[in-house]
Parts: sequence; structure tokens; C-alpha cells
Amino acid sequence: MIGSVGATMAQTGENQLGDFIRGRFLFVEETCRASGRDPERTLETIKQECFRLAETPERREFLERKLFGGAVLASAVLPDWLDKVFLEAISHVLRGPGAPLFTTSSRTPCVASEAGRFNARRQAASVFAPLYARKRPVEWLRTTFPIIYRQCYGATAAAGLKIEDLSAGRFRVTLDNRGLEKAGPLDCSTALGYLCGALEVLGAKDPVVTHAACGLLARPPAVCLFEVTWREA
Ligand SMILES: [Zn+2]
Repeated sequence: MIGSVGATMAQTGENQLGDFIRGRFLFVEETCRASGRDPERTLETIKQECFRLAETPERREFLERKLFGGAVLASAVLPDWLDKVFLEAISHVLRGPGAPLFTTSSRTPCVASEAGRFNARRQAASVFAPLYARKRPVEWLRTTFPIIYRQCYGATAAAGLKIEDLSAGRFRVTLDNRGLEKAGPLDCSTALGYLCGALEVLGAKDPVVTHAACGLLARPPAVCLFEVTWREA
């Protein structure tokens, strides 16, 4: 069911992102709590940054109404650009002075990767609990990750997803996010963090996710390659 909802939305630049967006709000709260910031003031700053990043009055109005106007439903179908603007605004506001905006390794996290990691851990215990239950890390990567990816990125992108076994505990994940409005280095960082968080929650030992090559930064754009390693617990 989860996958089919994403599939029907693939051509419109919208996906079933509601629960991911809810997780971003909770991530902001959690980060504020951990760093002694005022959550309401921080959220207001993020809101203003979202408005700045939104390119048109129509988009600002949409953000006001759909993102900041009340609770976002877990099942909400939302446009990709909103996902992008929100993640960028959160990163701009929460990152420390001089901290990088995106990362290519889970060993050097950034706000966007931590936001992804947070959502994986949270969804493993809530909306996607049945998809995580009793899965070994390798099974999760091969069978569950494609379902979640399809929900976030749509059927067209999901058709280009490849998961290859390189050696024991070492995999290559190929994502083809070309042409998606939300695609970019921050989005790649959040995917990297999500993979890492999921493996952690499933008990993989010392998981490391590396963004070996970002095709979105290449001209012409190419696919994105990730390397995922861990030791079985
Ligand atoms: Zn990339």
C-alpha cells in the first residue's frame, strides 16, 4: 500500500512525505532540547528561512497553510519542493558556525544527515515498525529500503534504485534522483543518515555509509553512489 501511493504521485512532483515532515519537526525539537535552545524561537527562525527560500508568493502561502498552519498528517501528500525548502531551512538555522551544510560520510555528520538518522530510528519504532520487525540489516536493505525510498521519491526514481552486494557486509546503493526537484547534496546527506540510522536500529555493528559519488553535482547529472558497510552483531 505504501509503495502504491508513492507510485501514483510520481509524475506530479509530490509524494507521501507527511510522516517524514513530522519527523523533521520532532528532530528540531529534539535538537533544541539537546542544545539548550528555545524550540519556539528556533522554529520561528526556521519558518522565516523557509519563506526566504520559497521562490514565489504562492509557495510562501502554501508553506504558511500546509507546513506551519497546524499538524501535518502522517499520510499527507506534499510537494518535493517543500521537503527541500524545509530541510535547507533547518540546516541553515541549526548548523553551528562553520559547520558543513552536507556530508559524504556518516563519520562526519551534518544537520541533514542527523535529520535522516533521526527519522529512521523514529519510523522504525512507529509508522514503519512492521517493515523493520525481525529484519536483519541485509534483509532490510534489500527489501524494506526500496519500499521506503519509493514512498519518498516515487516510482520512476524507485525503478532506478540498485542494491549490489560487493562483499560480505559491504554494499553499493545506487540512487537515480535526476530530475527530482528536491534532489541535491542535502537530500543525499539525509538519505545517507537514514540508511545509517536504520542499520543502527537493526543492530548492525559499526555501520558506515559513504556517499562515494554524487551524480547531482556532475554535469550532466548522473546517478548517486553510496557505499554501505557494517559488521554483523
Ligand atoms: Zn548525491
